[in-house]
This record gives sequence, structure tokens and C-alpha cells, in this order.
Amino acid sequence: MSAGAFSAVTLPKFIDTASLKSAHTRSFKHYCFCNNSNTNLSLPRTPVLQRTNEFRISVLCKAVNTAVEIETQSGVKKDAPVLPFRVGHGFDLHRLEPGLPLIIGGISIPHDRGCDAHSDGDVLFHCVVDAILGALGLPDIGQLFPDSDPKWQGADSSVFLTEAVRLMHEAGYDIGNLDATLILQRPKLSPHKETIRSNLCKLLGAHLSAINLKAKTHEKVDSLGENRSIAAHTVVLLMKK
Ligand SMILES: [Zn+2]
Repeated sequence: MSAGAFSAVTLPKFIDTASLKSAHTRSFKHYCFCNNSNTNLSLPRTPVLQRTNEFRISVLCKAVNTAVEIETQSGVKKDAPVLPFRVGHGFDLHRLEPGLPLIIGGISIPHDRGCDAHSDGDVLFHCVVDAILGALGLPDIGQLFPDSDPKWQGADSSVFLTEAVRLMHEAGYDIGNLDATLILQRPKLSPHKETIRSNLCKLLGAHLSAINLKAKTHEKVDSLGENRSIAAHTVVLLMKK
């Protein structure tokens, strides 16, 4: 079909928003347009069609209060829908070196070695920051706070977490719940778990019941199991305010 030709299709009487948007996306790849006049959604009867040049057509379609603009040339959607929930995953790992302090979750834990890092090396806070940034679709911690910047040398990682929380609120989200797992062979984390959890709750502005923290050994396998490194995983659910 040429760029100047259009055809019409008819949507079923009942269709969910995601299917409708998908139909519009697929139709515009072929320079067609969906007739929405017999759907039960609050769509404009006459869709707004903008043809900006030979190869680029965009459409604005209001579907259940969600505006979608589809650019067919690049396939990139602009004005993405605001999601009620967003999920993010974070991962971090640091090498352990003798003679350094071990900071986890904002507290100093007695050990014969600590994390080698540009900042204070708080593997848990770094991981939580990346989970939140990931949920928001933002660049990761290394991009926001590069280790090439002397400003962050020895920095308290709660600064990074506070900034991630600020960005989360700016985007209109709150913490739904968070689940983190620390992986370290030594020392035992159990005496410190509740203090760390409490620190996370304060910084995240979340209820204690929404924050979970687990600790695992690495069964003496690889650098993690040989007390030469420490790692953490975090999954976070953000909820629209
Ligand atoms: Zn880190």
C-alpha cells in the first residue's frame, strides 16, 4: 500500500484499551486507520490524523483518558501511558578488600574487610537505587552518579537513595513493596537485619511491612562464597499515588 492510501477496519463492540492501542499501532504500520465508532470506549468519533511527510504519520487517539502518539517511522511511542504500577530490578556487586569498612544498608558492620568502591560501597543501597530507577525507566546509578566524579568519592550512599526517592515522588509514585536479597559468605547479617530494614523504611518513606530483606551465603562457591565479594538483588513495586 502506498503512503498516500488509507483503508478502514472495524473494531469489535467490546475491546480493552491495550488491544485497541495495539490495533492502532499495527494498523499504522500499514498506513490504515481503525474505525472506533462502534466501540464502548470514550474515543473521538473522528480520529485526529496528522500526516507530516511522505514517510511519517502520527495519530493522537484518546482511549479511556490515555493519549497515545504513535510514530510509524521509528516505532517509538511518545506520551507513554501512565501506569498504575511499575516494577524494577536492581543488582550490585562489590569486591571485598581487607582494611576497608563494610557498610551495608547504612550501617557499619564489623568485618575483616569492606567494599572497594568510589562511594562508601553500600551494595544494598546501590541495588535499591537501581531497582527504583529501573522501575521509573531512568538511567542507572552509574550514569546518575558516575564514579569519575570526585563529588561522589566516599559519599554516603543514602544520598543516592534519597535522590532516587525524590525522582520517584516527582514521577508520582510511592513504594508498593520491596524485596531485597544480600549474598555474602561472611559475616552473619542476622544481628543487623532489623536495623538495616528500619533504615530502608525511613529513607523510602515506607511501612516496615512493605520492606523485606533476606541474606544468603553463596555456599563457599566463587568469589561471593570465598568472602572476596558481596552482591545484592532487589525487586521493587511502585504504585501510582
Ligand atoms: Zn555499588
